[in-house]
This record gives sequence, C-alpha cells and structure tokens, in this order.
Amino acid sequence: MSRAGYDAIVIGAGSVGCPSAYFLAREGLKVLVLDGERAPGQGQNKAAIGGVRATHSDPAKIALCLESIRIFSTWQEEHGSDIGWIEGGYCFPIYRSEDETALRALLPLQKSYGLEIDWAPPEEIRRLVPGINPEGLRGGTFSPRDGQVSPLKAAAAFWKEARARGAEFRFSEPVTGLLLRGGRIEGVETMRGRYYAPVVLNAAGAEAREVGSMAGIEIPVTPDSHEGGISAPMERFFDPLIVDIRPGPEGRTANFYFGQNDRGQVIFCYTPIEPIVGTNRSETSEFMPVIARRLIELIPRLRNMLIRRVWRGCYPMTPDGIIILDRVREAEGLYLAVGMCGQGFMLGPGVGLNMARLIAGGEPAIAPEVFESVGFYRDYDARRAEALK
Ligand SMILES: Cc1cc2nc3c(=O)[nH]c(=O)nc-3n(C[C@H](O)[C@H](O)[C@H](O)COP(=O)(O)OP(=O)(O)OC[C@H]3O[C@@H](n4cnc5c(N)ncnc54)[C@H](O)[C@@H]3O)c2cc1C
Repeated sequence: MSRAGYDAIVIGAGSVGCPSAYFLAREGLKVLVLDGERAPGQGQNKAAIGGVRATHSDPAKIALCLESIRIFSTWQEEHGSDIGWIEGGYCFPIYRSEDETALRALLPLQKSYGLEIDWAPPEEIRRLVPGINPEGLRGGTFSPRDGQVSPLKAAAAFWKEARARGAEFRFSEPVTGLLLRGGRIEGVETMRGRYYAPVVLNAAGAEAREVGSMAGIEIPVTPDSHEGGISAPMERFFDPLIVDIRPGPEGRTANFYFGQNDRGQVIFCYTPIEPIVGTNRSETSEFMPVIARRLIELIPRLRNMLIRRVWRGCYPMTPDGIIILDRVREAEGLYLAVGMCGQGFMLGPGVGLNMARLIAGGEPAIAPEVFESVGFYRDYDARRAEALK
C-alpha cells in the first residue's frame, strides 16, 4: 500500500468501475471505490438490457469484449455466483438487400479477429427465432458465442469479489474534487473528507466530463438517453439477442434490439434516429407504442406479451462512438475508462482487466496498438469521418 492510504481510487461503481475494482484488487492493490449512488450498478449499469457480444467492427471493442465474454462465461464456475449468463448468441435477421451486403462485407474482418460468426439462411433464422415474420426474410448473421448477463447481478458479483480481495466501497459519497499537486494526482475529495492515492481512475460514466473538469481537462463525453422495457416472465422460446437494424416505419427509430433473459422476461430497447441529449431519465409516453409495433411486426406472437416496466438511461457518448481508455498526460496518475456509449456493460470486464494491468504493470492485456486506438488524445473528428465512410 502507498504511504497515501490507498494504491488506487476508482470513481464510480458501475459497469466499468466494479470490474475495475475487482481486477485492481486482484493485482494486489489496496483499492477504494466511491459512488454517489447507494449501491453498486445503480447508475447507467442498471439501465442496460444485458446484451454481451464481441461481434463489432472496431478492433478494440472486439478484443475487449472477447475478454469480457471469457470472464462472464466462466464467472459462475470460478466464483460460484450466478450472474444470469446465457450463451444464446446474437442474431441480426435481415430483410433488405443493402443490409445483407453490409453485414456480409463485415464477416471477413470479424472472422480475422477470431470471432465465430456467419451468415445463416432464412430457415436457420426461423429455427433460432421461432415465430419470426418470414415475409421477405433473407437470412441473417448469427454469432453463437455471444450472450447476455444480468447487469444488476453482475455489478453485485464484482462488488462482492472485489471486497473479498480487500477493496473498500463508499456509497452515497460522490467525488467533488480531485487533489493535484505539481501535475500529479494525490487523491480525491468528497463532502465527507479527503482520500489519498497515487492513482485515480475516472469511471464516472455519464458524469465523466464533470469529473474531468475537476482536473481541468475536457473529456468529450455527452450523455444521450435511451429507453428500455421488460415484460413479465414467459416460457423461454428464443435464446439469441436479436437486433433488427432496419429503421422503423414511424421514422423515429433506427435499430431496435431485445432478448429473453434468464427469468424468461423479454427485455428490449431501441435507438432513436435523433439522439436525445441530456440526463432526463423519466420514461416517455412515446416509447411503448413505438417499440410494441416494431416487436409485433417482427414476431407477431409477442402481441400478448405483458409489459412490467419501462425506464430511461444514458449512453455516455463520445463524438466518434468509440470508448476512451488512457492515462491523462496533464495529471500523472489520473486514468480514464469513460465514453462507453451503448456498450459499457459488455465492455466492463474487459476494460476493467485492461485498466488494472495498465495501472499495476504498465501494459494493457490486449495488443498495445489496439489499446492505443482508443486513446484520449486521438482526433475524434477524423475517427468519426472514418466510421461514417
Ligand atoms: C436502455 C439501455 C440499454 C442498454 N443496453 C446495453 C446492453 O445491452 N449492453 C451493453 O453493453 N450496454 C448497454 N447499455 C449501455 C450501458 O448501460 C452503459 O454503456 C454502461 O452502463 C456505462 O458504464 P459506466 O461504468 O461507464 O457507467 P455507469 O454504469 O453509469 O457507472 C458510472 C458510475 O459513476 C458514478 N458517478 C458519477 N459521477 C460520480 C462522482 N462525481 N463521484 C462518484 N461516483 C460518480 C455513477 O453514480 C455511476 O454509478 C444500455 C443503456 C441503456 C440506457
């Protein structure tokens, strides 16, 4: 332990902060985690529907999510606690020729990163998703190693295992300031006092920008809100997470995605075409009618589904849709694991493992050049332009 009290302080006990604390403690560091909420995973983590896939097009997301899947899928065996892991795969059913061309074009790249993913003919998609609308179905992609996990169970599991390795958690105690001296981080300040450590990890999710400003740095993370919902439990009839990438006929939604969780509940959300920037988390009257129409059009048998609850949460967005993992040059000892966008839950364990390796050993676990591609000092506009090509 450092003279300062702790070896590392993690700001935020969310999708990223909880696994980061666990892996830092596993590296032998004395860790303190601070969060303004009253329990682990109560920020955006609990808004996630729990989809976990490595089938992306960005190499860093692929490498980090492969780590996450390895950690999630072996968690129960290794630690005994059930986090709701279902290896049901991800399925993108396709109805439009342009979508087929785009997804088929991605397959060689995805396979070159070792992903198990392929094009499936319509009859295979109908087997995977019983009752799916067959009209115009061209087939789709299926990646059998992806899956889903319960975000609340996962946050609690990482919290418990981190504590078992000596990490301390302080809830209802937001960080209000960063302590800096001569360009070095010395710790953090809260309403209750000061805590000292030579390393501070900003894992503050949608509030990452505010935490950055405490050190005088501008972190380009802007929250934009997305709604989700969940049904009453029903008999399991499909295993994959399903993503329909067509824009909605109502003109307001881009893709929508859903799955059936470990309790048989269908859990769903959509991506609005126009981002709803801000932190308002009240549900809207528009969400349910829009998504119900989309769900029933895709799987008509869902028309009798009983809805339990809807909610709204934030994606901590970056200008180019790529996450930020780095050391801060202007404040030695300050690290960033922020800007998780719509995939922070699935990225969390892979990010936590890599940040812990970087902090404790100076090197990430994934290839350094891949890790550098998600650095803080990149050209966000150029990356955005590249992604839109
Ligand atoms: C409807 C919906 C569905 C989603 N579905 C998925 C999905 O299927 N799969 C997926 O991977 N992702 C999904 N996401 C995205 C996912 O929820 C986020 O990307 C992820 O939770 C972000 O993780 P994080 O650790 O950065 O933030 P959080 O989990 O929000 O953790 C940040 C924590 O920092 C704390 N904090 C903030 N400021 C301070 C401070 N000053 N001091 C102390 N603590 C502070 C917060 O209280 C919070 O607990 C979904 C999001 C929404 C809204």
